Amino acid sequence: MSDACSTCASAGSCTTESCSTEPKLTEAQKASQVKNLIAVMSGKGGVGKSSVTGMLATSLHNQGYKVGVLDADITGPSIPKIFGVTEKAMVNSIGVTPPKSKGGIKIMSLNLMLENEDDPVIWRGAIITQLVQQFWTDVVWGELDYLLIDMPPGTGDVPITVFQSLPISGIVVVSSPQQLAGMIVRKAINMAKKYDARIYGLIENMAYVECPDCHTRLEIFGKPQGELEAQKSEISFLGQLPLDPSLASLSDAGRIEEYQSEGFRAIAARLADEIAK
Ligand code: ADP
Repeated sequence: MSDACSTCASAGSCTTESCSTEPKLTEAQKASQVKNLIAVMSGKGGVGKSSVTGMLATSLHNQGYKVGVLDADITGPSIPKIFGVTEKAMVNSIGVTPPKSKGGIKIMSLNLMLENEDDPVIWRGAIITQLVQQFWTDVVWGELDYLLIDMPPGTGDVPITVFQSLPISGIVVVSSPQQLAGMIVRKAINMAKKYDARIYGLIENMAYVECPDCHTRLEIFGKPQGELEAQKSEISFLGQLPLDPSLASLSDAGRIEEYQSEGFRAIAARLADEIAK
């Protein structure tokens, strides 16, 4: 796919006959300028991908960047919940305006368009992937330094669509020790390599629990292997995060932006170095 196609509104579904080299931008795209589009991926669910997306967005925002989060985990959206956003997305003649978190991060998720957030999304893959494309083409993101995509776990329809039709700058892979039995995280890494996407690195979440009294590190999910796995896949290791009950409780309360972590600050700094390379 040419560079021109990556910004085309019909990218991914166009035929050679209808394709011209001139990008066809929607009104929403004309009103948006996203400098870095970063996808956060994991091999499987429950490893903390959405939490890491939320922490990364917060960290970048706190550094003064303009940040948005596109929730592409359509059937299991947790981004509005962890940011405590309940305001619905507004639609006008230009496109969809994403609501903002308390701190000012722009958020777009299907849950912000559903009347009732508990309504299940019982849609076939084609409709889900079309919606993810529209979250790129029809949402008025405005000027953003970073737009983070919270991908669904695995390597299915949505990640394929994102790699094929969105101008991804690079990806971050999130894993946890229990999923690093080997190949699952490598599948996500290999998918990104197949699409020639830059891989900024691997973050290993829930690597250990620190005893609040004696500060001993307990490796409750087994020996962390993120660093080794990153070496094997020849990608950067961005760091480890502990299992921290305060992260879980702040996320449940919709206050992830208040979470403070020295460890995460170091990870965010390493990621910034990778992006700048
Ligand atoms: P995923 O997006 O990979 O499915 P989530 O980010 O939704 O995973 O995390 C799954 C659950 O684990 C959530 O309840 C979240 O608050 C919790 N969680 C994630 N990372 C941590 C962590 N480092 N410490 C404590 N709880 C965590």
